[in-house]
Parts: sequence; C-alpha cells; structure tokens
Amino acid sequence: MSLIVQKYGGTSLKNISIIKKVAKKIQSLNLAGTKVVVIVSAMGNTTDSLIKKAHQISKNPSPREMDILLSTGELVSSTLLSIALNSLKIPAISLSGSQAGIQTDINHGKARINSINPKRIFNELKKNKVVIIAGFQGTSLLEETTTLGRGGSDTTAVAIAASLNTDQCEIYTDVDGIFTADPRLVPKAQLLHQIAFEEMLEFASYGAKMDPRAIELAMTYKIPILVKSSTSNSLGSLISEDADMKKTIGEIKNKVRGIATDNNVAKITIRKLKDKPGTSASLFGLLASENVSVEDIVQNSSTGGFTDLSFTLKKPELQQALTILKNSQFNSNISTVETANNLAKISIIGTGMQNTPGYAAKMFRTLGNANINIEMIITSEIRITCIIHESDLQSAAQLLHTEFSLDKNNS
Ligand code: ASP
Ligand code: MG
Repeated sequence: MSLIVQKYGGTSLKNISIIKKVAKKIQSLNLAGTKVVVIVSAMGNTTDSLIKKAHQISKNPSPREMDILLSTGELVSSTLLSIALNSLKIPAISLSGSQAGIQTDINHGKARINSINPKRIFNELKKNKVVIIAGFQGTSLLEETTTLGRGGSDTTAVAIAASLNTDQCEIYTDVDGIFTADPRLVPKAQLLHQIAFEEMLEFASYGAKMDPRAIELAMTYKIPILVKSSTSNSLGSLISEDADMKKTIGEIKNKVRGIATDNNVAKITIRKLKDKPGTSASLFGLLASENVSVEDIVQNSSTGGFTDLSFTLKKPELQQALTILKNSQFNSNISTVETANNLAKISIIGTGMQNTPGYAAKMFRTLGNANINIEMIITSEIRITCIIHESDLQSAAQLLHTEFSLDKNNS
C-alpha cells in the first residue's frame, strides 16, 4: 500500500471551511487505499498573533514559554483536521511533535531536529489511521517543547518523509509552486515545473518563502519535494536532484533559472578594523553566541594593517547586533561603524551558470544602465547576488527577468 506525506501551510488551513476541504482531499486518498501522513502549520496568522499577544505583556518573554505558546498554533490545526476527518468517518489521529517522536536540540525558538523515532506513527498507520502531525515543534533532551523557527513546518514535513522513507514529500500552499521570480514584483514570472535542490536552496536562502533547512534536509536524504497549490489544479513544482538538466542540455541558451529577491536586508560596515588573525573569528563568534544570524560577509584587502568589513543581516536584528558590538572589546578597535537598513538583495540563480562567463557582467550592466547602484556583490558557484536599495528592487527584478529571457511570453 502506498504512503504519502503531505504538508499544509497556514493559508491552506486558514478557516474551518478550508480545513473541511483539506479533509475531503485526504478522504479521497484514503478511500483509494493510500496511507496518509499529514503535517500542518498553524491556521492563517495564528503564530504572528500569538507572538503579538506575548509582546503585549512583556518585551522579553521567556523563550521556553514562547515555544510552548507557539506550539499551540499547530496543535489547533492538527486537532481540527483530525476532528474533520473523523466526522467524515475516516479514522484519524493528531499527534504533537513530541508524540510523533521528534527530538530536537535545546535551542528554544530555533531548535534543530536531532532524530525522529517514527514508531508511534507506524503504529497508528497500521491501525489504518490518517496521522496528522503538528509541524514546527519537537521535544528536547530536557523534555521541553521546542519550536524550529518561523516556517519550520516544511522542515518537519521533510524530516518525517525521510524517517518514513517515502518517495516524495508534498507541500501544499497558496501559490501554484515555485516561480522564476516573485509574481507580486514581476507579473511576467512563470511557474518552474522542475528545479534542482541546489537551485532551490539558493532561492530559499535568498528570498523565496521556504525554509532553507527543509531543502537542505531533502537534499541530504534525496527526498523530492512537490510544491503545489491546495486550491488550484496546477501541477506544481518538483524540487529534486538535477531537475531537468538532461532534457535541456543543448537546448537552453539561458542558464539563469530564476531571480530571488529579499527586501529584509540591513548592512553593517566596520571601517578600520585591525587586520590580525582571529579578529573575524571573535567578531562573528560573538554575534553567533547571541544568536544573531549574519548572512553575507565581505572583507576588503587591507591597507596599513587595517581592513574594512561589511556584513548583512535581517532588519530586525540590526539593533541587537549594534548593541552587541558596542558592548564588546571591538568598540575600542573600531573607528567607524556605518549602518543601513533600507536595502534589498537581488540574485540570479542557475546551476547552468557554473563555468560560463558573462552572467555577472550582464547583470551589472543591466543594473548600471538603469542607474541602480550596487552596494555589495556576493557570488556562489550558481548564484550572483547584488545588494541594492530597497526602492530599486522592483525595477531591478523586472529588468533582470527580461534581460535573462525569463518573461512569460518569451518562452
Ligand atoms: N506556524 C509557524 C510559522 O508561521 C511555522 C510554519 O508555518 O511553518 O512560522
Ligand atoms: Mg505559518
């Protein structure tokens, strides 16, 4: 008998009538003889509103209490979906992350999954039940409830699929799949039917709304992910190894798969930092120890024993990072710290760009011709990223989308 793992995001469960529709979908799979394991997110904006409520009481709620609070969002959806299925006479059971055997480390708010013991899940499946698991949560070695960080139920879904050894993990959302660019910024964006893990990892890390950890996990365990709309009949996008490389070799002129954008970018530049071994290690070690996630780092070659260093981070973490730097030993070493919090990242991504010159030049020329200033440039083998002003993001995205022949009517 086949086994399917499906994840439903918050927008696909946002109210009771939608939850009933999801239950109907699962019912037809069940009646066709398929075993189904479902992972759910919290309904609609539940997580945001729980965070807001806590902050109305305290600026600094304890991370332990926050995790238990936030884990309730997913419990509401999993229990309601189970009730909906049972009322359709489909036997179903909801499980919390802990009951589903998800063990994490002890980092509240950003926990990582250490292991999954799927014994309980298998037992329930044997009893012919649909198993509905609350996403985004687990339990730590200290037997505390932990959450995996915003968007973490994708990661739960892939981890469960890996532990059950299924062929694929289906993720249902409110969009048709992965697009060549964010359709809200670029109306001519088109759906990608296939995309390679490596490319998707770059998309997710550089702006697409998907948790990069889920992709990393899928890549490690070679679990293809099918991203689909829960309401339309679109075929969705398959994220898998190598995507359609074989099919397109020799056919494809343009090796840019898509454009990722992110407008949640702040930058810190430290000028005249002492250029001696260990400086970066202690600077970034310090920020990491306070849980500030640094994204991209660029260091200049030094002159006269000093160097300039810039790094990007998410806007909400800027103030915290500055406070940490101010209270550190670096304060005396740093002559100037400059900050900006109105920036954005724009990236062109494609495995086919490897070893092919000219993409970077074309990207910079397109931006330059439009009078868009580049603040920082960062590259990987399959990605070129420019940091630009937030106000230039939309026109940059549209221009690059056209320049790299990604527009809908171009195909
Ligand atoms: N409900 C959590 C959040 O909004 C987890 C998730 O949706 O994946 O971040
Ligand atoms: Mg959510």
